[in-house]
Amino acid sequence: MKIAIVSSEAVPFAKTGGLADVAGTLFRTFRQMGNDVVLFLPLYRSVRAQYGRDLREIDTPFSIQLGGEEAAVRLFALDKMPFDSKAGRRPAGQSGRVLFVANDAFFDREELYGTADAAYADNAQRFIFFSKAVTEAISRLGYEFDAVHCNDWQTALIPYYMKTLWRGAPAFAKTRSVFTIHNLGYQGIFPPEAMALIGLGWEYFTLHGLEFYGQVNLLKAGIAGADAITTVSPTYAAEILSAEYGFGLEGALSARRERLHGILNGIDYAEWTPYADPHLPSRYSSAHLAGKAWCRRTLVSEWKLSDGLSRPLIGFVGRLADQKGVDLIAEAIPEMIRLGANIILVGKGEARLHNALSALQDRFPGHMHLTIGFAEPHAHHVYAASDLFLMPSRYEPCGLGQMIAMRYGTIPVARRTGGLADTIDHGRTGFLFDEPTAVALTGSVREALAALRNKSSWRKLVRAAMDEDFSWTRSAQQYLDLYQVGRQ
Ligand code: ADP
Repeated sequence: MKIAIVSSEAVPFAKTGGLADVAGTLFRTFRQMGNDVVLFLPLYRSVRAQYGRDLREIDTPFSIQLGGEEAAVRLFALDKMPFDSKAGRRPAGQSGRVLFVANDAFFDREELYGTADAAYADNAQRFIFFSKAVTEAISRLGYEFDAVHCNDWQTALIPYYMKTLWRGAPAFAKTRSVFTIHNLGYQGIFPPEAMALIGLGWEYFTLHGLEFYGQVNLLKAGIAGADAITTVSPTYAAEILSAEYGFGLEGALSARRERLHGILNGIDYAEWTPYADPHLPSRYSSAHLAGKAWCRRTLVSEWKLSDGLSRPLIGFVGRLADQKGVDLIAEAIPEMIRLGANIILVGKGEARLHNALSALQDRFPGHMHLTIGFAEPHAHHVYAASDLFLMPSRYEPCGLGQMIAMRYGTIPVARRTGGLADTIDHGRTGFLFDEPTAVALTGSVREALAALRNKSSWRKLVRAAMDEDFSWTRSAQQYLDLYQVGRQ
């Protein structure tokens, strides 16, 4: 099939969270399955810094209308994939490329979306520009995709444009649009003036269009426009139809529920495999667990954790956000340390949570270590070295952390919600609790620590978690099936 994946981030090029893992891995999996696939991404500063030498400009620069002004678009291709052979040679039978949309005024910045204090003020311009530029590029380059697969609010306008501005255009005549919601909590809500940037008339600023409580809601465009809507786990697909999890869009989603599907994410085994992980000081598998103990030994000595070999190690890797229940972790840390554990955290996000965790680190020297920042090699080490992995999320569309942890024999302690409920089998591969409170979290940690004291049954739990299948193959096939579903 001929497929376009359009995303604001994708591994290994640009990443702030799970969206990047999903978009990048899906791209690579589709290629391996023999599809002709193009991944569209913005050309961020970090991408240019790392891959600039391999970028080749294609097409002549062109411009698009953005709120009455012309915005310049340049397209760059990266044909030599960083994940192919060292020589960059494409494996036989695989075709596919990454196309970067460049406009330095919008994307040549330090971060993808904003700093710890605030989102960039012109994010509406930046991603409306990106969405317009991609549709225009598809038409100019003569692609006739079978499916255009868009992700989250940043690219949600594309399915809507395909139903409006581009309806009937030859470039999209046989193309289905699929829109995946990775997190309903981020919707791209902007003042009504954004309609001028979008370039659609006020007749689209309605309850059934882009209007949302007097504002423009870009995610709503994806829900209204796509031939198929997906989200990243079956439980989350059901949850978002309720007021509790729908963030005000439960009505719009319910109206299209027959087109809404939950497809569980996988994890990228090329990156997340403890017996082949270059970031670990020692490799291991479910049959040979000695290397896991060595990973622990090196980590606790590196961070000078007291009684690091005898005290259970509890890890966290993720965005420092209330969604992830990081405030609950902060509240529970004194009790978890009192229960005899050491805590190790890697995260980046809200300044308020940085500060709360830093204060706890000062209060419990030797029992807690915090790394603030996006630190991938270090994250691998934390997944491998820990006994328990915390995910007390208030909501969790799918969650990758718990699957990575299980693959590394680290038992998740997580809230029973969204993808956490779909991937963790309570008592067999992890521990689940219901209430989003520090008390419920510590209760579950206490249960897990009690189980940890029985070495032989714990080893069974670790092996069961490691032997779960979280590979991408099945999910990728589910997406391919969906691309064939009839257009509306
Ligand atoms: P999100 O809601 O952020 O998408 P997921 O659990 O779906 O959460 O995916 C998070 C991904 O990002 C995982 O691969 C996790 O290891 C990684 N990650 C998150 N924060 C960091 C960080 N500070 N350093 C390194 N990796 C991180």
